[in-house]
Amino acid sequence: MSRNRTVSFLDKNNGENVAEVSDVGNVSGMNFDYLVVGGGIVGLTVAREIANRSMGSVAVFEKEPRLGAHGSGRNSGVIHAGIYYRPHTLRAQICRDGARRMREYAAERNLCWKKSGKVIVATTPHAVGQIDVLLERATANGIRVEKIGQDELSRLEPEARTHEAALHSPDTAVIDPLDVLSELRADLERAGVTVRVGVAVTGIDESSRAARAGSSAVGFGTLINAAGLHADRVARSMGVGRAYQIMAFRGAYRELVPAAAGRFRGSVYPTPDLRMPFLGVHITPDPRGRVFVGPTAMPALGREHYGRISGLNPVEAVRTAAALGSMLAADRNGMRGLVRAEVRRYSAAGFLREARALAPGLQAGDIGRVCKVGLRAQLVDRNTRELVDDYVLERTKHSLHVLNATSPAFSSAFALAEMIVDEL
Ligand SMILES: Cc1cc2nc3c(=O)[nH]c(=O)nc-3n(C[C@H](O)[C@H](O)[C@H](O)COP(=O)(O)OP(=O)(O)OC[C@H]3O[C@@H](n4cnc5c(N)ncnc54)[C@H](O)[C@@H]3O)c2cc1C
Repeated sequence: MSRNRTVSFLDKNNGENVAEVSDVGNVSGMNFDYLVVGGGIVGLTVAREIANRSMGSVAVFEKEPRLGAHGSGRNSGVIHAGIYYRPHTLRAQICRDGARRMREYAAERNLCWKKSGKVIVATTPHAVGQIDVLLERATANGIRVEKIGQDELSRLEPEARTHEAALHSPDTAVIDPLDVLSELRADLERAGVTVRVGVAVTGIDESSRAARAGSSAVGFGTLINAAGLHADRVARSMGVGRAYQIMAFRGAYRELVPAAAGRFRGSVYPTPDLRMPFLGVHITPDPRGRVFVGPTAMPALGREHYGRISGLNPVEAVRTAAALGSMLAADRNGMRGLVRAEVRRYSAAGFLREARALAPGLQAGDIGRVCKVGLRAQLVDRNTRELVDDYVLERTKHSLHVLNATSPAFSSAFALAEMIVDEL
């Protein structure tokens, strides 16, 4: 095959809108019917679905040296039942089925998981109305929930408090997300799928159906973009998804000390601000008995801006700050209120106040330091400056792009993968 020209989307400065044309190189030997970019939960389940349907050869390329370095390995590990999502959205349609399949997979493979249930409480009198809205949505989505009073709440979760009413979801479960990723990788390798870690796809040429992966050129029939925080850039490099940009929202968790952790049985969530795609700071056990409080939802200054300095790139930070400024000016989805609330949560005292709204018995000594951070790959509509509320699939002749695979994409992954592969 002759040398191909490709559009590169990962530049050295980690900037936006990069469209540097360069040589992809010769495709020598490595050719796949399906090339999946990104080895998160979406990429792995899509590859598994393609392999299960015997549709042809498949490869997954993951840029990090291990699976789960981003969203899929840094989440709350909650298998959401599907309560919150507006009926008729994709998120609502596939969560119930996906969650059931994730629970079945966990049980079949003996993974570390637990059906520990969840309560959603009204932390202010104003939030009581939200309980009814969530009850309506859950009913419309076919999800089992029960409206309960404080007595029943105290029986289920002795530490939790609500105003007037709460919701109980018995089907919510928790799982170790890294266990799921390892099990999926083993499935893929048994099925003959090529899984390469530590190999970034850095350029794609659709006309010759070739991609640059590490130092090699790889031929493909169809490319599936499951690149999480970078999915919009991959899409734009192939001429789609131009209406969107991904903004990372930083979610920090703190852990409860063991004595306090033992007082919780399942997850305790507040009613969320339904204008936002985030569920609010909650208390959630992991299946091994550790209990975490979080995550926050602070806009980050870069796609991989995990720490104060770590992942911070000056060029990207300036661009992101400008985009954030215009989002604050537009104030869609209650953006200014979110940022104000996030600033208050930043300190240990603010974080404790948030946790005590759910469980007033918690004391300062019960909550440790920030121990885990995840970044949500949240899609923003570039024209309206609104946060996009649903999964978005875009395609070209030889590629399919998964944009906005935010929560509950982990819970829903098996059903989401089925839908994506149907699209192929
Ligand atoms: C703090 C937090 C809490 C959450 N809690 C929950 C929850 O409780 N339940 C739930 O269902 N969901 C939850 N989510 C959402 C869930 O984790 C995500 O929806 C899901 O993990 C998205 O999976 P993904 O495969 O799209 O992305 P990722 O896991 O980010 O995977 C994308 C992969 O693509 C790789 N990649 C990117 N660019 C390239 C490239 N050019 N070449 C090769 N590889 C590339 C990345 O390294 C990455 O590993 C949470 C998310 C966060 C951040």
